[in-house]
Amino acid sequence: MKESFRQFVHEHVTKLEPLETRASEAWWRASTTGEPDAYRERADLQTRIEAVLSDREKFAALERFRESSDKLDPVDRRQLDLLYLSYLGRQCSPDLLAEIVERASDVEAGFATFRPEIDGRRLTQNDVEEILGGSTDDDHRRRAWEASKEAGRVVAEPVRALVRLRNRAAHELGFDDYYRLSLTLEEQSPEEIETLFDDLDRRTTAPYLAAKREIDEALSRRFGVETGSLELWHYHDPFFQEVPEPDDLDLDASFRDRDLLGIARSFFHGIGLDVAPILERSDVHERDGKNQHAFCIHIDRKGDVRVLLNLKPTSRWMSTVLHELGHGVYDRGIGIELPYVLRHPAHTFVTEGIAMLFGRMSHSASWLSRMGLTDGADPREREDRLRSLQITRQLVFARWCQVMVRFERALYADPEADLDRLWWDLVERYQAVSRPAGRRCEDWATKIHIVSTPVYYHNYVLGEMMASQLLDAVLARLGQPEGNEGALVGRNSVGAFLTDRVFSQGASLPWSDLVAKATGSALSVESFVRQFG
Ligand SMILES: [Zn+2]
Repeated sequence: MKESFRQFVHEHVTKLEPLETRASEAWWRASTTGEPDAYRERADLQTRIEAVLSDREKFAALERFRESSDKLDPVDRRQLDLLYLSYLGRQCSPDLLAEIVERASDVEAGFATFRPEIDGRRLTQNDVEEILGGSTDDDHRRRAWEASKEAGRVVAEPVRALVRLRNRAAHELGFDDYYRLSLTLEEQSPEEIETLFDDLDRRTTAPYLAAKREIDEALSRRFGVETGSLELWHYHDPFFQEVPEPDDLDLDASFRDRDLLGIARSFFHGIGLDVAPILERSDVHERDGKNQHAFCIHIDRKGDVRVLLNLKPTSRWMSTVLHELGHGVYDRGIGIELPYVLRHPAHTFVTEGIAMLFGRMSHSASWLSRMGLTDGADPREREDRLRSLQITRQLVFARWCQVMVRFERALYADPEADLDRLWWDLVERYQAVSRPAGRRCEDWATKIHIVSTPVYYHNYVLGEMMASQLLDAVLARLGQPEGNEGALVGRNSVGAFLTDRVFSQGASLPWSDLVAKATGSALSVESFVRQFG
């Protein structure tokens, strides 16, 4: 049994490792050059990877191994668990899988080509964002917002059809719906997510309403509207998921004419983590044809880690550099002695948590001071203002995520339900924004994540919880008070702690065990609420 399982793993890795490495290389080439043949190569390799993982006989073999998994040692058993889940998700009928992919890309294309119109004038998404970000004309804002929601009419029915197909795939595999299937494949459950989100709801309602009152009062002054009459289009973005920087707080002042990579290198060096090997292989400046976003990629699971950036000397990019390098130090710290199957982060939200922990630094007054990044403002005042901005941002985003996460669960539970109504019930309940009088529209369908990254949104919140919990664990180890990011600067033991407790473990433990082992307690809202509640 033990031998035949090892033989199985050996064959699996021999097939998959070169495909995955080449797919990563192709993705890197596509993203840095924009060459169409690189995109094609990546898509081809992706199809070949899918073919390996959808092999029926291999899946049957994995099911047999599971019947006597108690005969395996813990490392093999862990590999078996992860292999089983990666094959399981691909075992529904190939025609159905192909149809799901095709329908999803049709809907995405529908989104991409949709252009809102006002008085026959076509707008881009940027136009809408600009109007909502800057216009003080009440009527213009309403019309831009309403126009952007017209996409819902176009895509609502195709989205429902896609949800039905995804549910059919889940039924084929013996699951109630696609929501539960997706979470199971990620070693999560709807009940566990619900418990955390209920807890977060209870603990953030009062502070959120207090923060929102301030936002509303500012909007009321700006638009000359009673706070009770504010509508969703008075907020800064179409979903009220973000909070803009106040005009009189110049966050970029600390970073003008600064070398962001140099700052990051010296910060990470100070905590005992070396990012030089990552930066050597990275692509950091803007260029024609290049992907305009930012990401970190581990090409070969052997330490070839790179980040793609489009640097500008701003606070936002400082945060992004630290975030992506956070993913990078995690990947580089994974134990090379682990088997290939376990040589990746413990969970998406765990590596997000690490990246968020570092990304938050650039908004921390104590970190900025310790790094010598002063901007001429009074340090005490800067600290207070940055702190309250961070709190408001975290609360607003967390409440918005409540809407998304609960909506997705309900959507897959019953795609035929009155989703228009459900969506606004959730917006009113969690974001405390009223529905426009008499509005009946498919506003729920205008969030592209439902199509492009289904059943993922909860991981953003879990990542933030993880970041706060890790920060507290590190600070406790340093004997420092809670919530003081700046205390990490120059502390060599921070890197050693994170490497030992988190990075080096790879995926050898389920995330829940890893979190408990690394931080001393199960994942909870405690630290997050203490920091931002
Ligand atoms: Zn990230």
